[in-house]
Amino acid sequence: MGRRSRTPTRKNYIEMSSYQKDPALSAHSKRVNYIAMGCLIFLGPIIVVCLWHTIVNLDGSALNMWKYWKTYNFEGVRKIWPMPSFYACKLIVFFAVFEALLQVYVPGERHIGIVSPTGNRPMYKKNGFTCCVITIFVYYFAYKEKHFNPAGVYDHLGEIYSALIVISMIVCCLVYLKGHTYPSSTDWGSCGNPLIDFYWGMELYPRIGRDFDLKLYFISRFGMMSWACLVISFVIKQWEQKGKVADSMFVSSVLQLAYIFKFFWWEGGYLNTLSMMHDRAGFYTIWGAMVWLPAVYSSPVLYLVQHPVQLGRWVSIYVFFAGLLCIYTQYSIDWQRQEFRETHAKARVWGINPVKIQAHYVTEKGEHKQTLLLASGWWGLARHVHYIFEIGSCFFWSIPALFTHTSPYFFLLFLTFFLVDRVERDDRRCKAKYMKFWDIYRKKVPNKIIPLIY
Ligand code: NDP
Repeated sequence: MGRRSRTPTRKNYIEMSSYQKDPALSAHSKRVNYIAMGCLIFLGPIIVVCLWHTIVNLDGSALNMWKYWKTYNFEGVRKIWPMPSFYACKLIVFFAVFEALLQVYVPGERHIGIVSPTGNRPMYKKNGFTCCVITIFVYYFAYKEKHFNPAGVYDHLGEIYSALIVISMIVCCLVYLKGHTYPSSTDWGSCGNPLIDFYWGMELYPRIGRDFDLKLYFISRFGMMSWACLVISFVIKQWEQKGKVADSMFVSSVLQLAYIFKFFWWEGGYLNTLSMMHDRAGFYTIWGAMVWLPAVYSSPVLYLVQHPVQLGRWVSIYVFFAGLLCIYTQYSIDWQRQEFRETHAKARVWGINPVKIQAHYVTEKGEHKQTLLLASGWWGLARHVHYIFEIGSCFFWSIPALFTHTSPYFFLLFLTFFLVDRVERDDRRCKAKYMKFWDIYRKKVPNKIIPLIY
């Protein structure tokens, strides 16, 4: 990866090719303008605290939260806002250091990333799966040996989220300052507006030293791993409180853990996705990974702690296997594209030779490059057909909560909006990158997510 000695300048940003130049294009759809960014920075923490409060203190009822909000407004938010405690800070710092040490010291294969807009190829160590297994083993061992009680995480959850909000804001500011003063590579730049720079980020691959990739750390090691630990903590809380784990809790938590394991198993593929290749390290990515991801993604399981629905054997089995099928299918769609590109279209797709589009594009340095677009198999059904299965997985780990309250479906709702917006954003980015080649693909595969419908 390029180092600072390449003397990155603000010009790097200005001269970026059109698919990287416009931060709104790179980070968000054009609808998300300055005001929206400001609102998201302000509202994100409030939503996290209100969601926690609704689930834990208001019986999971969004209606109760709405009544509370109508009565007290922002003053009410101040009243319920938990103070970050010493216990919470200690836990977060310990977890953060532990995960950083694993990232540095656990051995793993070398992974070479995709060529960045300024021509760098970032290197990674692919040790996420091993780190995940070690983390869960150590977490469980600490519980079994009575060094630490994960049920306490549930009891102190408000303080933990509150502390996380503060710590993550500090981290975002530090990463922003690092981007301004000491960028790690030539893939950086300022658009001249501090709000956009803070929100969207300055650097594509910020690092400490040569190898410690901050984006990988915050998204994968901190965010995804803390999601897994929260799920386990909530299961243990129910076990300690009710003396057993309800089948709904079992189905929901095991599906989430299966998804997280799949994520780490497929880590090499993840390093080539939009989040790693195109999203810069700003509030959007770092705060999202440190706070939003663990707090919102684990919320269906959090709800089940106090609402242990009994689904019965057959419903549990159907929901469980439907969820597993979604997770597996999503994996196989991601894998199909990865294998297609890795083998330069030589691997057969669904038993036949793939339909490919040779797409040309120009990098910011004016270099002409080419790549392949797959237009058959899953990728011939719709341009983002895997999002159906992403939403499907989320549906099946939320549905065990049944329909008494809406709060366990907050994540599902958010994910649906998020992915629909992501499709638009990716479409615009690919159109700007591949121009007429993207049009050819769009003509061959006209639907965005649902074959024949959307
Ligand atoms: P995608 O897997 O949708 O990849 C999009 C990129 O792939 C494009 O920008 C383009 O990049 C390339 N591409 C697009 N079409 C083709 C094609 N036909 N053939 C070859 N390459 C193509 O990216 P995501 O990051 O959105 O998703 C990755 C995984 O992460 C998915 O499984 C998704 O469901 C999951 N995800 C989960 C989220 C969550 O919060 N739970 C959020 C977002 C994603 P280029 O050509 O430049 O390489």
